[in-house]
Order: sequence, then C-alpha cells, then structure tokens
Amino acid sequence: MLTQSIDDALRVIQQKPEGVLQSDLWKILDVDSRKCSRIVKKLIDSGMIERIEFRKNGIKTFVLKARRRPVDPSKLLAGEELIPCIACDMECTVELCPRLLDWMYQLAICEASE
Ligand code: SF4
Repeated sequence: MLTQSIDDALRVIQQKPEGVLQSDLWKILDVDSRKCSRIVKKLIDSGMIERIEFRKNGIKTFVLKARRRPVDPSKLLAGEELIPCIACDMECTVELCPRLLDWMYQLAICEASE
C-alpha cells in the first residue's frame, strides 16, 4: 500500500518540473498529511526527490522536486550505434524522424538477438 503511494507520489512530482508543494501533495494523493510525510521521507532518503523550504501565505511548507538522474550511457546505444539525436541539428518531428526510426529498428534487432 505504501509502495503504491510512493510510486504515485513520485509520478506526480516528476510530472511537475517546477515542483509540488508538500501541502498539496497529500491532497492530490488523497492521503493524510502524516502518511504523506512518510512517503516524502522515503523519496528523499532514496535520493529520488529534494525538498526545498517554501512559505505560502506566511506558512512554512516545502516544494518537492524530482532529482535528475544521470543517463545510463548504455541506453543511448543500439549495438554500436549511438542514438542519432545526439548532436542532431535537424528540424525535429520525433514521430516522423527516419533517422530515429532506423535506430529504433536497430535497437529492436539488438534486443531480440540478446
Ligand atoms: S528525432 Fe530525429 S530530428 Fe529529432 S533530434 Fe532525433 S535524430 Fe534529430
């Protein structure tokens, strides 16, 4: 039960790059503030989020922001082939990009042969 709430909280926080007020998070999650504090503590302890002190109408609360995690370089490779988006300066329509589509086919082939 708490694990599901932690996942839900992380999803909510990750969707808002500007952060989420802790005083709003427990309402969004439909949990009480005590349970929300436990969820937030777990996420902070695991390094997934950071908590920044904030005052709203003179009342102290916290802004919760997702931490950026370093990209695993292996996720950028299809076999030996680096994802084409790196250093790409083309006009971008991701859904229609033939270079990216080729790379994704290559990735699928590599994963199927593992
Ligand atoms: S999706 Fe295509 S056009 Fe967009 S950055 Fe990647 S390679 Fe370049």
